[in-house]
Amino acid sequence: ILEEANNALSLGCKIVRTAFKNENEFENLKKLVENFKGEIIADIHFDYKLALIAMEAGVSGIRFNPGNIGGKERVKKIIEKAKTKKNLAIRIGVNSGSLEKELIKKYGGPTTQALVESTKKWCEYLENDLEFFNFKISAKASDVMKTINACKQIAQFTNAPFHVGITEAGGGKNGIIKSTAGIGILIYEGLADTFRVSLTAPIEEEIKTGFSILKAMGKLENGGEIISCPTCGRTHGTLFKYYNKLEKWFNNQNWWQKPRIKVALMGCEVNGPGEASDANIGLALGHNTALFFENGEIKKKFDSQDKAFEELLKKIEEKWKN
Ligand code: SF4
Repeated sequence: ILEEANNALSLGCKIVRTAFKNENEFENLKKLVENFKGEIIADIHFDYKLALIAMEAGVSGIRFNPGNIGGKERVKKIIEKAKTKKNLAIRIGVNSGSLEKELIKKYGGPTTQALVESTKKWCEYLENDLEFFNFKISAKASDVMKTINACKQIAQFTNAPFHVGITEAGGGKNGIIKSTAGIGILIYEGLADTFRVSLTAPIEEEIKTGFSILKAMGKLENGGEIISCPTCGRTHGTLFKYYNKLEKWFNNQNWWQKPRIKVALMGCEVNGPGEASDANIGLALGHNTALFFENGEIKKKFDSQDKAFEELLKKIEEKWKN
């Protein structure tokens, strides 16, 4: 787990959540906390005692779903212990999969209203009855609009920070699109203090997608960005081929950890440099040729598109070294 956590940290993910499934894992959790340079959150389900044990391991936070922990008294025990630990944060998760049975019955399923009512109940309990405020809220569903609507309604009654995401979003393009739609809108609404992209894919994919969302939402100052035209009747050559190569190369270079650069790939010399004038550098394809341009100004004409592409990669590397 430490290796996986360090890998996530090296990719820019500073908060790592790990399942704490039984007390026999205590020593391992403790070692993880001691050796990891980021923050460890223990993920607790069903057994409130595990939350109490995990806190002794020095974790930065506990995530639990009040709906499946066994009632207010048990939640109270977790919170009372959390109060004794300086800076320990609690995340209360209200997911469509862990809602209280009575709310599922009342609303006929894990609806937006059920998510909101459950969250309201637990927020009020923590804030009013237990006078505990160091918590964040996570209300997630696999349905994008349900998640967004729930978060927007929850924000009406609490100032607690939000951890957001689309749970069980799926994998591949489908999962990426659902996560981007949901998280992107919640970022725009100011309701995403932290987020996790939940994909049926390795964590590298989740982290990369997370940074892509930040970049697209204008929340990542650094990092590379590719713009490219959709192609049309004027297109020369195989722009798709160069786009796919460039995207793969960007990902291998961890583009989100590099200095800011906007790179353009355009399908024709007539409109390409002008349409991509806000790019730092780019290529516009011609008849077996390619123009290399910088800030909208044509710098060189290549008689081979492959050579022009190689030159483009070299130039990006140079800029990323500086
Ligand atoms: Fe068409 Fe050229 Fe515009 Fe690409 S840059 S969409 S090829 S006009």
